[in-house]
Amino acid sequence: MVKENPIPSKSKRPLIVMKFGGTSVGSAERMKNVAEIVADHAQRAEVAVVVSAMGGVTDMLIRAATQASQGDREQWKNVRRELAHRHREVADQLLKAAEQAIVLPRLADAVTDFENLCSGFSLVREVTPRAMDTLSSLGEVMSAQLVAAILRSRGTPAEAVDATELIVTDDNFGSATPLFEETHAQTRQRLAGLRRRGVVPVITGFRGATRQGVCTTLGRGGSDYSGTIVGGALDADEVWIWTDVDGVMTADPRLVPGARILPEISYPEAIELSFFGAKVLHHKTIQPVMKKKIPVWIKNSFNPTCPGTCIVPSANSSQRGVKAITSVSKAAIITLSGKDALSFPRLAAKTFNALSLEDIPTLMVTQSSADNVLCFAVHEADVRRVKAQLEKSFELEMLHDYMVAIEVMSHVAIVVAIGEDMKGTPGIAGRAFGVLGRHGISIIAIAQGSSELSISFAVKSADVKESVKVIHEEFKL
Ligand code: ADP
Ligand code: ASP
Ligand code: MG
Repeated sequence: MVKENPIPSKSKRPLIVMKFGGTSVGSAERMKNVAEIVADHAQRAEVAVVVSAMGGVTDMLIRAATQASQGDREQWKNVRRELAHRHREVADQLLKAAEQAIVLPRLADAVTDFENLCSGFSLVREVTPRAMDTLSSLGEVMSAQLVAAILRSRGTPAEAVDATELIVTDDNFGSATPLFEETHAQTRQRLAGLRRRGVVPVITGFRGATRQGVCTTLGRGGSDYSGTIVGGALDADEVWIWTDVDGVMTADPRLVPGARILPEISYPEAIELSFFGAKVLHHKTIQPVMKKKIPVWIKNSFNPTCPGTCIVPSANSSQRGVKAITSVSKAAIITLSGKDALSFPRLAAKTFNALSLEDIPTLMVTQSSADNVLCFAVHEADVRRVKAQLEKSFELEMLHDYMVAIEVMSHVAIVVAIGEDMKGTPGIAGRAFGVLGRHGISIIAIAQGSSELSISFAVKSADVKESVKVIHEEFKL
């Protein structure tokens, strides 16, 4: 019997899963930089890579599919050209002839898939969520091929791996959930040979597949999640998420130019930040590494020597009170008022049941049991579905006139102050109230997270930037 080399022992080489986002792989120059980072670390650690599509490609694919399904036969043909051109350009600039011979046919296959799918959508004038997943994640298939080839051509053994062979999910197309046990087994098994041979796997982010092998996606921005799913499955020592900022900051740097890097935050803080709109992290990223307590680093591929932010199971911080401010700028508040004949518990039960049927997250909830009023905020994009489901659920109550109409207030933003140590710090809500008032910003609603990790304020969308800025200043972040 041939004795196989064991997978490199952990005591010798730590295993790091490195995820690179869209801007980090956005051009030939950026991909070359990725290959340098990976090759450099692969000398000291075992590295597994997860890549996003090149920046802008996923948006472009989704737009093309939508236009094709509306019967537009021209637009997707332009996208086909651009898709082929952007990837071909990288291959031309960075790959030797032998590597081009391997990679160009694979890129061409992806472009053919794009063409066949779009031509089908334009014929039947429809794109199903299932077909959209196959199409929208083609960018990751193409970028993984390129990054693996660039690594090989500079002497680092690497192979592109399609995550449909690793990540097993349910069939909730567009926002699938991994089936973790099967994913762990499949990921370990599929990658074992490469790991034994010291080959760096370059895995497509964003996508997975059902048990039947049908391609799914993990939701927009889901490659971060792919990174930690693979990290959890392989028992990685660390997961590094390479992006275009120096780490998690005290606020979105696009809203507050003076925002500061946080050297360390806790899992609960990261979860809260990403849930409330901090784009730097997909909102499910921490979940796959929680049990194993794997640290997740956020690093800047444009500034690789900066250590970045370490996300650890629990914060070891001396900073009390507010740590960061985040916001969801496109939200809506929905208000339901019942009459006496409809008790408050029944109003609340039916409302949340309706939300759960559509799997819709609520951003904040406030109530007045005495007045029989329930008020909650959702993402603007979910309003139509929520309203339709509520109207269905309360059809009889409306007919009996037990309930006044369902009201929707649009153009609302939710501004959230986050910090694990806020619970022991009095007066935070008061200070935030005060500073918003002094700047003439009126607060529509306020809610404290039950974990006491966050306080949320609903304000008008037009006030979001100013609100984040003045709260950030007030707490001297
Ligand atoms: P990638 O393509 O690497 O996944 P994203 O664009 O998804 O990158 O996320 C990084 C962006 O997140 C940053 O460029 C920044 O504008 C935005 N962002 C929002 N809130 C924060 C925050 N609190 N800290 C850092 N970045 C943030
Ligand atoms: N490419 C996918 C998106 O744009 C996934 C990701 O980049 O994380 O949503
Ligand atoms: Mg992202």
